[in-house]
Amino acid sequence: MFQKEEFNKMIFSRINQLIDDYKLVKENEKIAVALSGGKDSILTLHALKAYQNQANFDFELVAISVNEGIANYRQQGVNSAVNNARICDVPIILKSFKEEENIELDDIYPYFKSACIPCGVFRRNILNKTAYEIGADKIATGHNLDDEIQSFLMSFSRGDTVKFSKFGPELDRIHEKLVPRIKPLWNTPEADVKKWAVINNIDIHIAECPYSNLSLRAKIKHFLNETEAKHPGTKENVMNSFKEILDVPQIRTVLNECEICGEPTSGKICKTCEIRSIISENTKN
Ligand code: SF4
Repeated sequence: MFQKEEFNKMIFSRINQLIDDYKLVKENEKIAVALSGGKDSILTLHALKAYQNQANFDFELVAISVNEGIANYRQQGVNSAVNNARICDVPIILKSFKEEENIELDDIYPYFKSACIPCGVFRRNILNKTAYEIGADKIATGHNLDDEIQSFLMSFSRGDTVKFSKFGPELDRIHEKLVPRIKPLWNTPEADVKKWAVINNIDIHIAECPYSNLSLRAKIKHFLNETEAKHPGTKENVMNSFKEILDVPQIRTVLNECEICGEPTSGKICKTCEIRSIISENTKN
């Protein structure tokens, strides 16, 4: 019991410290938590609720859960999201690819190199549009320290240095319609998130997405975990290198509005409309 209390104190203090250091949450803001039902988003919700209970200023929390349409997988996540939102007394908005795009991920993923491409693009679009519509000031995501390192290495391996501007615990508002992101678990290792969920017997969705092993992220995650096991400290070294890069002036992306749907985009047509057009080409007739 002592160990559990000590651990909870440690993990919540580190998250609170990050929120304070980077002023991730400010007075009277509305924070939308992207709640998949997995361990990271569930900890993000509980941590923000605990922060709200002890903060000496008011802010609002709301959760948004998106069902992508992955059979025998996503509904369990949505159930955990709904249950934890109830436990934390936070209202939850349920969205789905079916309702918003009239597709299920299971039906359209073969048209893409990886299911994660349409999945990520539609999910980000739905989360952002929903958060914008309800007047949220920020979207809190469950990105932990391991996710951040993986994203960093993915951008390196793709030569996509513009993405470096997306690293860090808080992203600036770069377009009126793009709700900025905060990452309260930015410096929390994945192993700690797992431990928190296990020792507190939290209702989380544990299963792996059936498409996850096909992604570049999964390969980099596997490589990092293997390297860390053989050379402890590797993840910390990557993170420290990354923090040094963060001190370099950020590369700013100027955003336009998509010529088709009006959503923010760095090009003329947004990724969501590109994906919609690929699906439409493949489902003609
Ligand atoms: Fe979507 Fe890929 Fe994540 Fe599965 S692993 S939920 S397909 S982004």
